[in-house]
Amino acid sequence: MHRAPAGEFTFAEAFPNGNLEPVKIHVLPAGPLQTNGYLLTELSTGEAVLVDAPQGITEKIRPVLAKEGCKLVALWLTHGHFDHMQDAARLKRELGVHVVAHRDDQGLIETPEIMEGFMGAKLGLEGVPVDQWVAQGDTLTALGRTFEVRHVPGHCPGNILFYQAEARAVFVGDALFNGGVGRWDLPGGSFDQLAASIRTQIYTLPDDTVVLPGHGPRTTVGDEKEANPFVAAVAR
Ligand SMILES: [Zn+2]
Ligand SMILES: [Zn+2]
Repeated sequence: MHRAPAGEFTFAEAFPNGNLEPVKIHVLPAGPLQTNGYLLTELSTGEAVLVDAPQGITEKIRPVLAKEGCKLVALWLTHGHFDHMQDAARLKRELGVHVVAHRDDQGLIETPEIMEGFMGAKLGLEGVPVDQWVAQGDTLTALGRTFEVRHVPGHCPGNILFYQAEARAVFVGDALFNGGVGRWDLPGGSFDQLAASIRTQIYTLPDDTVVLPGHGPRTTVGDEKEANPFVAAVAR
């Protein structure tokens, strides 16, 4: 299994079969659920993109951006659960980032009272206006590269993944974990839908694709197809 310590790694270390140099990925777990924020920095363009915005990520990315000499240009939200967007409004206000998400999570992202309602707690959430809604098959261009968007509902309605083919890297949010899958018991969740998303949109990627999940260590498509206890490669 591929274990990922928090911190910084280069594509050459983490992606033996892919290449995205000189992009670096900084893994920055933050917030009460240790949600992975992934900061991608590209030294030649001076751009950076953040995948997800857990609580406290703003403080964590500032020194990295300063050290790398990069400006944060975009925030890509894998989905609208609070632990992935708690710092989004602040990032938009303070750094002016362009926010990308899937419209099926619009309510969660823009109207946080909905999330607080089903969590049964006042979380002090702040909604963030989304600048760009993306859907299945769309592409995002950043850091001089192209990322494919795929829709992987089941954990929640609007979970999307961002796939970079040359790097063999995919950011999946809470759809799939190393040895696990996202919970499907929250409003809008469905195990059957989640399993179908994983089989049709993630397990169809090359086996050596490195999966970067919303929580916990990284894994590969091949390892999960072989050993994931929740969703086997073929429905049984
Ligand atoms: Zn989630
Ligand atoms: Zn999460």
